[in-house]
Amino acid sequence: HMVTIRYADGKGWYEPRVEARAPIPMDPASAVLHYAQEIFEGLKAYTLPDGGIAMFRPDANATRFAQSAQRMAMPQLPEETFLQSLREIIAIDRSWLPPGDEGSLYLRPFAYASEVFLGVRPSMEYLYLVIASPVGPYFSGGVKPVSVWVTPDFTRAAPGGTGAAKCGGNYAAGLSAQAEAIENGCDQVVYLDAVERKYIDELGGMNVFFVLDDNSLATPPLTGTILPGITRDSVIKLAERAGRKVVERPVSLDEWRTGAASGAIREAFACGTAAVITPIGSVKYAGGGFTVADGGTGEVTSELRKQLVDIQRGRAEDPFGWVHRVL
Ligand code: PMP
Repeated sequence: HMVTIRYADGKGWYEPRVEARAPIPMDPASAVLHYAQEIFEGLKAYTLPDGGIAMFRPDANATRFAQSAQRMAMPQLPEETFLQSLREIIAIDRSWLPPGDEGSLYLRPFAYASEVFLGVRPSMEYLYLVIASPVGPYFSGGVKPVSVWVTPDFTRAAPGGTGAAKCGGNYAAGLSAQAEAIENGCDQVVYLDAVERKYIDELGGMNVFFVLDDNSLATPPLTGTILPGITRDSVIKLAERAGRKVVERPVSLDEWRTGAASGAIREAFACGTAAVITPIGSVKYAGGGFTVADGGTGEVTSELRKQLVDIQRGRAEDPFGWVHRVL
């Protein structure tokens, strides 16, 4: 199925519908096709032990969607409308939720400029939609460390750009970098900062954390070029609750390389909605590479992953009120 809501300047959001999923007729001059005024979100719904269904922190996705809209000169969808649209798609597509406690239903809310107009200015009409898709366990056969490629050629976002917004254009610009990572035998691309080409920003679709030798965590700061991940925020809160120190500071590729060799950086992991928390096993860059710890899954990474997954799945206490029961 799909949820659709239309928007027009002067009229606001109107005509909310839930209907069978079908192609959307689109004029060739629709603004999004030319100027990429489009934003999206991604989150999951899970089955709880009692058979109920929950979403993880959907209010945080609503907030980020609103921030993305603001950056892309788009109208804000009220938080309650956003949440209601997710509840509706779950209710109608719930039979797609894979059985057992491993799979989930991926929810994809998005909005785009639908005005038929060939000019560079914010559109006066938009379409908001939600679709859902069943996803199996991200790691069949256990958590597998990812290998990463530090791209020498491409940057993801420059200061003042759209890096902190979840807009399609960011991902279009990253496709060459991701292809480069695959060509170099790696799973994911790592972006360096656009200014000094020195500091780790994030992965193609995940934020990054480092576990230091005093068991504290370091993660790149949100300076506007990085997507403020909801999993990133959850990891910070969980780690701090467990009494662990978390420092948001720049970490250079050089620090990572020398730290991995000396033991100053014990573990590194990537985090995001899709893979939750995934260890980074090896790093490759033009002219070299290194393994992180022994290339396996570190203790702190495992511990944080278990804590987060157990909260999401309703198997552990939810001290932050992150789990929103839907059905
Ligand atoms: N960075 C990028 C570029 C992403 O696409 C994602 C996935 N949304 C993340 C980080 C992680 O964000 P989240 O934890 O909200 O999924």
